[in-house]
Amino acid sequence: MIASTAQLARHAQANGYAVAAINILDDLSLRAVIEAAAGLSSPVIVQVSVKTVRSIGVDLMTATFRAAAEVAPVPVALHLDHCPDRQVIADCVQAGWSSVLFDASDRDVARAEAETAEVVALAHAAGVDVESEIENIIGVEDGVGSDVALHSYSVEDLAGVAERTGVDLLAPQLGTAHGRYTRAPVLLPDRVRDLAKLSALPIVLHGGTGLTEADFRAFIEAGVSKINISTGLKLAYMRSAREHLVRAQATDTWNPPSMFADISLAVHGEVATYLQMFGSVGQADAAASDR
Ligand SMILES: [Zn+2]
Repeated sequence: MIASTAQLARHAQANGYAVAAINILDDLSLRAVIEAAAGLSSPVIVQVSVKTVRSIGVDLMTATFRAAAEVAPVPVALHLDHCPDRQVIADCVQAGWSSVLFDASDRDVARAEAETAEVVALAHAAGVDVESEIENIIGVEDGVGSDVALHSYSVEDLAGVAERTGVDLLAPQLGTAHGRYTRAPVLLPDRVRDLAKLSALPIVLHGGTGLTEADFRAFIEAGVSKINISTGLKLAYMRSAREHLVRAQATDTWNPPSMFADISLAVHGEVATYLQMFGSVGQADAAASDR
């Protein structure tokens, strides 16, 4: 069933787990994510990068998601990941997606607040939730972002902007980065605690790939209730494709559906690992009925 992103995150927040938000790349990975969640009775959020939305098209992406999610036995939300582009935000809001991440971290704080308020007005009028990011999370993800911290604020300022703009979820800097870690990150679960004292909003952890189960537990205990995974899925997808192609070459057997099955299995297994680590297994029915 199709679910609200904020509702899933609030249920996770109230019940001591985090809902996984997985960046999909195509219908194959979309279906594998939903199957993994269904197999473990877990809620899940399907995320799409702006680059993938532009490549597939909003209409086809929306129709594909609906066809897969409507018949799923678990609640599934559709979320637009990091989007600084107001037109793409408007297109996804109009198409009825569950939520959008308006990424205003490239703007100064006054402009970020003003534009976030406009996005919230547009989105909420259509029943769409808004995740807010005004500090930039380190790393470039599908062409969006920066490798240096351009904008960082106090937790008081973050909570103030969130309150005044009326956003539904908050994505602060927590020491994590997009992509693969070249050295161990300095993680900031205490910043989650400090922010949670000032704001009741669900807090989102970006850059989850490469963190240990203990890292995830520390963030969830501190109050994180949505965790984004992108790189881990890309690696599982591409490595299984490569293994398949190596075997195909060795045996001179070229069968695309068989490669799709291998990729699906690899993505399914990768997603199941996160659902287990994040504690969302078995929460599907409660999350779906908790409104
Ligand atoms: Zn991110």
